[in-house]
Amino acid sequence: MKNSPGQRMRDIQHFGEEGGVTPVIDHAATSTFLNPGEMEQVFTGEKEGCYLYSRHSNPTVNAFAQKVAAMEDMPAAFGVASGMAAISASLLQILDGPGHIVCSNTVYGGTWALFKNIFPKLGIQVSFVDPVDIKAWENAIRPETKVLYTETLSNPLLAVADLGALAKLKKNHHLKFVVDNTFTPLLITPAHWGADVVVHSCTKYMSGASDLVGGAIAADLDFINQLKDVNNGFVMLQGPVMDARVAYELYSRLDHLPVRMQGHSRSAEFLATKLIEQGISGVVYPGLQGHPQYELIAKQLNPGYGYGGMITLDLDSRDRAVELAQKLQEQKFGLFAVSLGFTRTLMSCPASSTSSEIPVEEQEKMGLKSGLLRLSIGLIGDDQLMTERFLKCYREVMKVN
Ligand code: PLP
Repeated sequence: MKNSPGQRMRDIQHFGEEGGVTPVIDHAATSTFLNPGEMEQVFTGEKEGCYLYSRHSNPTVNAFAQKVAAMEDMPAAFGVASGMAAISASLLQILDGPGHIVCSNTVYGGTWALFKNIFPKLGIQVSFVDPVDIKAWENAIRPETKVLYTETLSNPLLAVADLGALAKLKKNHHLKFVVDNTFTPLLITPAHWGADVVVHSCTKYMSGASDLVGGAIAADLDFINQLKDVNNGFVMLQGPVMDARVAYELYSRLDHLPVRMQGHSRSAEFLATKLIEQGISGVVYPGLQGHPQYELIAKQLNPGYGYGGMITLDLDSRDRAVELAQKLQEQKFGLFAVSLGFTRTLMSCPASSTSSEIPVEEQEKMGLKSGLLRLSIGLIGDDQLMTERFLKCYREVMKVN
C-alpha cells in the first residue's frame, strides 16, 4: 500500500545541532569552502550538492523542499519567494524562449495577468480553454505548444481538472504538464496523475497563518537543478528565492497541514451541506454531489483529507455579495480579505478583487459573475454556530425567512 502524502512528509526528519528535534535555521548567505578548488568546480558545474550561496541553495530551504517533494511524491522540490515566482520561474525554465501554453481559462487572476500581459512581450502566447473540455485543450495545441497548465481546483470557480486526461494529451503531443496545487495540498497528488511540475503558493494552506509569502516547485531532480543553474537557472538568475526563516516556518507548519486540511474540509462540508439542506441555490463545493465534477474529484482525491475548504456562493449581484460579506464580518463569521487557507474564514468577491485582472467579457465567458462570494472556510470555531450566523445574515440580505 502506498503511504499517504501526510505520512511521506512525516517520515522526513531533520535534526538540529546537538540532536534538537527541529532543524536549526541556517541564516548564512554564503558558505565557506575549505578547498578553494571546489568552489571553481561548483561554478563550472563539475561539482554538485555543495552549499555555495543562499540564492543557489540553503540547508533550511532544502529541508523544507524535501518535505514538499515527499508530499507531492516527486523526486525533488525547491522553495521560492511566492506562488507567482513558482509559476513564472517554472514556465520560463520549461519554455526556454518563445513558445505557446494551453491554459485553463479559470485560473487565479495574477496567473491570468502574467500569461496575458507579460508573457506575450517575451514571445510566449497563451490560449485559454474551458478546463473541463478536453477536446478544447486538444484543439488549442499548436506546433509551438510546449506546456499544458491548470489548477487542480480552479480559483475561484472550483472547476476540477481532469489531470489524467490532460496528462494523456501532454504525452501524445510531447508537452510538459504543469499543475498548480495551491487549493488542494495533500488532497490531490498531481504527480500520480501525470504532472511533470507541481507549483504551490505556500502563502495559503501550507502557511495556514496568513503571515508569510512563499512558493514551492516540485519536479524531477534535473528540472530543479536547471532552476538553480548558475548560468541558465531562472530562480538563480532572476533571484526569487525563499528566505531561510520563511522556510523554517513552513517546514514546521507542514507537520500539522494534514490535520488542518481535515479541519478545513470538515467545516466547509458541514456548511455547504447545511446551505443545500436550507434550499439555498448557487452554492458550489466539490464535496457536494451536485458539483458538475463530483465524480472526477472523488476519483482524484487521496483518502482521508476531505474535499477542501473552498466554497463559492452566487448571490446574483455584487452589492448583495458585499453586503452579505460585511454582515458576516460583523457577526464574526469571517474576515473580508483576499487569500485563503487561514485558520479563520476569509471572504472575497473575486470578480472585483483576485480576478479583477481578467476583463469583464472574459469573466463572463468563463462564468465568473460579479455576485460570486468566495469563502475560504477556516478551521476554528463551532460549525453549528457558524452555520447559524451565516443563515441569519443570508436571510437578512435576501429578505427571506
Ligand atoms: N496560485 C493560486 C491558485 C493562487 O490563488 C495564488 C494567489 O492567490 C497564487 C498562485 C499566487 O500566489 P502568491 O500570492 O503566493 O504569489
